[in-house]
Amino acid sequence: MSTKKDKLVIFDTTLRDGEQSPGASMTKEEKVRIARMLERMRVDVIEAGFAIASPGDFEAVQAVAEAVTESRICSLARAVNADILRAGEALKKANASRIHTFIATSPIHMKYKLQMDPEDVLQQAVNAVKTARQFTDDVEFSLEDGSRSEPDFMYRIIEAVITAGAGTINIPDTVGYGEPEEYGAMFRRVIESVPNSDKAIFSTHCHNDLGLAVANSLSAVMNGVRQVECTINGLGERAGNASLEEIVMAVQTRQDLYPVETGIDTSHIVPTSRMVSSVTGFPVQPNKAIVGANAFAHESGIHQDGVLKHRETYEIMRAEDVGWGQNRLVLGKHSGRAAVRARYEELGINFSDSEEFHQVFLRFKELADKKHEIFDEDLHSLVAESEAPVERFQLNDLDVRSKIGSAPQAFISLSIDGKAHETEAKGDGPVDATFKAIEYIVDSGADLKLYSVNAVTQGTDSQGSVTVRLEKDGRLVNGVGADTDILIASAQAYMDALNLLASSESKKQGV
Ligand SMILES: [Zn+2]
Repeated sequence: MSTKKDKLVIFDTTLRDGEQSPGASMTKEEKVRIARMLERMRVDVIEAGFAIASPGDFEAVQAVAEAVTESRICSLARAVNADILRAGEALKKANASRIHTFIATSPIHMKYKLQMDPEDVLQQAVNAVKTARQFTDDVEFSLEDGSRSEPDFMYRIIEAVITAGAGTINIPDTVGYGEPEEYGAMFRRVIESVPNSDKAIFSTHCHNDLGLAVANSLSAVMNGVRQVECTINGLGERAGNASLEEIVMAVQTRQDLYPVETGIDTSHIVPTSRMVSSVTGFPVQPNKAIVGANAFAHESGIHQDGVLKHRETYEIMRAEDVGWGQNRLVLGKHSGRAAVRARYEELGINFSDSEEFHQVFLRFKELADKKHEIFDEDLHSLVAESEAPVERFQLNDLDVRSKIGSAPQAFISLSIDGKAHETEAKGDGPVDATFKAIEYIVDSGADLKLYSVNAVTQGTDSQGSVTVRLEKDGRLVNGVGADTDILIASAQAYMDALNLLASSESKKQGV
């Protein structure tokens, strides 16, 4: 038996920093669903949002805090009273809560952004931590732009906030400029130089602009860090954040090397990755480590031979350990309500009322008529379809014709507030024709920002999962649709996006 290792705290910020990437916005219900998956995975801390940023963010933090009991729920807050009070309020019902407060500490940020003297910044940081401690015992302090701060000032402010009650100190590489050896060495120096550093856990928060976010995080772990901030699929602004699955599996696979272990149940990694991808409409690249479709595919004949004879020859991890291959055929045409509902419960999806489940079950039956084998991914896509809180726009019928040498033509019938409309349109392709026909009727004024199709499972009878991102008046929404016919899925996704736009409009008007 090995000696007991330190715990590496996994702090997931998919719902906060990940959501900040343009186009990745999630509804409250979607955040709760993802948070439940993170809880099943035994993520230690879930950063659910930035409570003061908007009423929607506040409600999402509150909803996650109520729904999740096993993981600690965190809200971000600037180092000002209003932010901290709002975070404390949103976290009131959490079983375990954390307030994560931050202020910039680099000379350039203090001078130009904050327009404050270093001494005032230090005092404000201390006050913020003390205020946050009135709401929770667990306070994290981040030095924004920390890696560009003056070392002596950084040591003083860290010492002061630890004395004030901060239990976690995060030094982010916000712009993704750091390099593993340098970033790790910085933590070593900080931990050695701050007199009370043993009273806090040090944390990384790395961005992937140079593809080094995971390497930087792991280098810091080798130098005394015991918390990493990360996201599922490395979701995040620009090139994204450090990827949770890569950090967790690196630590687990190289236990000979790392002085830490995580508490993560890795068998939930792939299903969670799929859920985040389908909710945000950001596909996972096939060659992505751990969660990419090809991550465990051994194509070359020599490799296959080796794997068949003795698995460890080429496989350093087992696909099933991260949740691949568990999505066996589960349901089909003859599966009843109880079986479908039970499988959803196993997937962590509960329905708020019987009507909601009824609608999903009807779609399940429809799908089972078209497709013999229904997989977990299909079940996820059936739920994703029913997210829009209002159904102003409904697709009644679609007929698309493609012929070599002539422009594709779409005939469409749809209802707006129950009133039926029909029209036809030509386009540069069948999808273009379909969307033009919808817009001839609806005239939404929205811009199409993204159109993506993904196969939900393998095989030519797979459902196509379509994401349509529309923008109107600065608001972005992601509509989703799934069907074995990708043109129907496309039309559904477009209608879903229109419904989401309509619901945010009506919300704005206070309806
Ligand atoms: Zn960040």
